[in-house]
Amino acid sequence: MIRQPIIVVMGHVDHGKTTLLDRIRSTMVTAKEEGGITQHIGASEVPLDVIEKTCGPLLAKFNLKITIPGLLFIDTPGHEAFTNLRKRGGSVADLAILVVDVTKSFEPQTFEAIEILKEYKTPFIVAANKIDAITGWRNSGAPSFTEAISKQGRSVAEDLEARIYDLIGKLSELGFNAERFDKVRDFKKEVLICPISAKTGEGIAELLMYATGLSQRFLEERLEIEINGAGVGGIIERKEERGLGTTIDVILYNGSLKVNDTVAFATDKGVATSKIKALLKPKPLQELRESSSRFYYVDKVGAAAGIKISGSGLEEALPGSLVISTDYNNYEAEIRSEIQEVFEVDKTGIILKSDSIGGIEALSKLLKSIGVTISKKAIGKVTKRDVLDAFSIRAGDPESAVVIAFNVQIEDDAEQEAYATGIRIIKGGVIYKIVDEYKEWIEQERRSSRQIIEKAMVFPGAIKLLPNSCFRVSHPAIFGVEVVGGRIKPGVQLVNESGEIVGRIKEMQDNGISLQESKKGDNLALSMDDVTYGRQIRENERLYVFLNDDDERAARYKFNNMLSDEEIDVLDQLSRIKAKRRKPQ
Ligand code: GDP
Repeated sequence: MIRQPIIVVMGHVDHGKTTLLDRIRSTMVTAKEEGGITQHIGASEVPLDVIEKTCGPLLAKFNLKITIPGLLFIDTPGHEAFTNLRKRGGSVADLAILVVDVTKSFEPQTFEAIEILKEYKTPFIVAANKIDAITGWRNSGAPSFTEAISKQGRSVAEDLEARIYDLIGKLSELGFNAERFDKVRDFKKEVLICPISAKTGEGIAELLMYATGLSQRFLEERLEIEINGAGVGGIIERKEERGLGTTIDVILYNGSLKVNDTVAFATDKGVATSKIKALLKPKPLQELRESSSRFYYVDKVGAAAGIKISGSGLEEALPGSLVISTDYNNYEAEIRSEIQEVFEVDKTGIILKSDSIGGIEALSKLLKSIGVTISKKAIGKVTKRDVLDAFSIRAGDPESAVVIAFNVQIEDDAEQEAYATGIRIIKGGVIYKIVDEYKEWIEQERRSSRQIIEKAMVFPGAIKLLPNSCFRVSHPAIFGVEVVGGRIKPGVQLVNESGEIVGRIKEMQDNGISLQESKKGDNLALSMDDVTYGRQIRENERLYVFLNDDDERAARYKFNNMLSDEEIDVLDQLSRIKAKRRKPQ
């Protein structure tokens, strides 16, 4: 049998995800008697007859025999919900609709959504939303974009065209060929852009039609299920329900489940099982008013469906885990290998805590894509142990001494320990904000360690003693110089071209202002305690900052990224001088 494709709606906050889902649900209610709607937990099903009614003759364009029974939209929009719709090697979601507000274009979570979809290899359609907000737009009342656009003036059409073109450009920068739906030639290679208004409903017909057509054409194989086979789904949420205890909300994507079946799932400690006491679906609206329970009971459910499961032992079930009927061969190995994959860690790296497997996986993937390694991953609150672990990481790998807490609390003593040790805990519930904060933190760390190194490190430098600029011969000698290479700082030793150390720079001044550093091209006055001008040093002579062999190695190999090419030249000159000196005379 072919099941409905599972569709998730993603996009930046306020771009219209919730409004789009509401619009899709109301389209359904308009096209069908409310009683005729199949109810789901956490998802809404748009049956094929509703799609046919809404799309009218549009669907015929695809020239396909539609065998999918409809579309199953996940009710919770956004990235965090998507991350729990996970299964091994990808997502439970078959297709995504990426909502982009055409009046705003791409925003941070738009980029992040694409990054996530790429990581999970989930195909997507772009819904270019809020076309009604374009100045001059006249609401046509039609669900079809093609009809709606024919009612608009030329300038409105051109404005929209330019906005769509901007989206095409953004997608192209990210490596996607994209086109407005009517210009797409290769549906497999191009991302389809559907202009819509979630508010007026214009464009919904094309959006539903392309979601249907693309699923039918490209996902059919993926949608083939054995309806009476063992049930396999993903846990999207774990919830306490009055009178039922702990329940799990599951999106079933293969096979079927019956009351009294036993299901297996991942917990903190490994794999656990529970016997299904009840399978629950939400009550339709009218019945809801007359009853105390929000659910009704079913004996059996087949994929694809959103269902609530009640049973004992579900307290430990992890959202984001697979849930598999124990009739399924190798169910335990399947769950175990999946946990293993998600919790695989690197030898060194940061510490990651989250409330769900999905959170761990999504952040692992995104952090990995920016080159961050993770040495510890776990579900649960941030504990003192985590902070101490980060602290011990700091000695060998300061850039990994951080705890990332995604959707989890920080225990009090962990907070205190972090304060005492200066370990940073980056906490939040929005993935892109966490990643951004991490990037900021790393920048800050690099800047401050750079400052520390710069303070301690001896940089190569060369000066020339200017003619007729001796202000004092000795105790201390004060004279004018030009920095002819690299940089100089007070306190460094100077060596002459024969390799003799002549003394240390005591102070540096420019017009009476004391300097801490001078660079190539600067003219300034130096003072030195232990030299007599005219004896150890002379006008027009070149002097070099002396780097002993340790300083030189550090500059050359350890902190070479802090030296300019010009500074490396000066260092080479110094090396030659030092080498000359080493040769037996
Ligand atoms: P979400 O955060 O992505 O779920 O965005 P919402 O669906 O909550 O929408 C954010 C705001 O944009 C709300 O005020 C909506 O009424 C408005 N909005 C959503 N879709 C449209 C649309 O197609 N046209 C207009 N004009 N406003 C819209």
